[in-house]
Amino acid sequence: MFKITAYGVRSNEVSYFNDLNKNQYELNLIGDLLTHENVETAKGSDAVLLRANCVADATNLAKFNEWGIKYVFTRTVGFNHIDLKAAASHNMKVARVPAYSPYAVAELAMTLGMMSLRHTTLATSRAKDGDFTVAPALFSREVHSSTVGIIGTGKIGATEASLYKGMGTRVLGYDPYPSDFARQFVTFVDLDELLAESDIVSIHVPYFPGQNENMVDEDFLKKMKNDAVLVNTARGELVDHGAVLQALQTNTLGSFATDVLPDEKLIFGHQFSGELPNKIVESLRELYPRVLMTPHIGSYTKPALTDMIAVSYQNFEQVLAN
Ligand code: NAD
Repeated sequence: MFKITAYGVRSNEVSYFNDLNKNQYELNLIGDLLTHENVETAKGSDAVLLRANCVADATNLAKFNEWGIKYVFTRTVGFNHIDLKAAASHNMKVARVPAYSPYAVAELAMTLGMMSLRHTTLATSRAKDGDFTVAPALFSREVHSSTVGIIGTGKIGATEASLYKGMGTRVLGYDPYPSDFARQFVTFVDLDELLAESDIVSIHVPYFPGQNENMVDEDFLKKMKNDAVLVNTARGELVDHGAVLQALQTNTLGSFATDVLPDEKLIFGHQFSGELPNKIVESLRELYPRVLMTPHIGSYTKPALTDMIAVSYQNFEQVLAN
């Protein structure tokens, strides 16, 4: 039987892997993400199935090759954790899940944007502390009469646009390849106009290592409104977090909400009682509730997980059929 070692399988995900499998594959489900330390757990498998933040670099891929593992699949949309050049040099097949419930990430992006715009986190944290006074800081814009700027209007960005459109919000978009689907909900403008006009800017661009790191930099932030909300549910590497911190400290950015971080495996998946290992991220965390962070949970929903596993199994079916 074709044996798959799947990494980063959380305890509540095991039954989904087993139920959708229908005894087609022998499964070796590993709770931890793939690292240099636990790579040996794949020995004897025909294929590996990864999650974001698994280390599929040249070193680990060379080991897979040595052990005859020729299929390196990921159950994610993003594939920046796989060294594609190294995989090609070993003639390995790489596949991802190009689409799963786009509502999972789109809804989270929208939730984070709306929480920030309407100051709901500030209001609820004050109430938690027993403070039910109506402070001027709780005075807010309305989502309905705001402008949202979506950068990257692919599956997730266009879905978020459709959700905002349903609320009557003005939706601007920037994408070099606007789809017909996105055009239904988005008015496409150039990036500078989007940044100058938007109350919420939401990033949904894929991260291409060596190409678009720190796409959101000081210059980008300067073009945004001083009270704008920046939301990132795409990849942490796209944002210069030092520049975001400075913009928040100088009040040239209203708030920042993120589901992703650069080198996030040092932080996400761990519990800290003291400071975070990354000074800039720690300084950002201290700005709560102007800064909201979630531990890469955009796709952590039942429909998305079901799609991800089902499509991953289909990917294996396809390569085995050829
Ligand atoms: P997609 O491929 O459908 O859409 C990406 C869009 O970005 C495309 O339309 C592309 O033309 C556009 N684009 C590329 N470079 C651009 C640029 N410089 N400026 C503006 N637009 C640009 O991808 P998707 O399914 O919508 O996913 C988007 C990203 O979301 C993924 O690449 C992934 O990194 C991230 N993601 C995060 C989570 C999470 O859990 N937080 C889950 C899934 C995906």
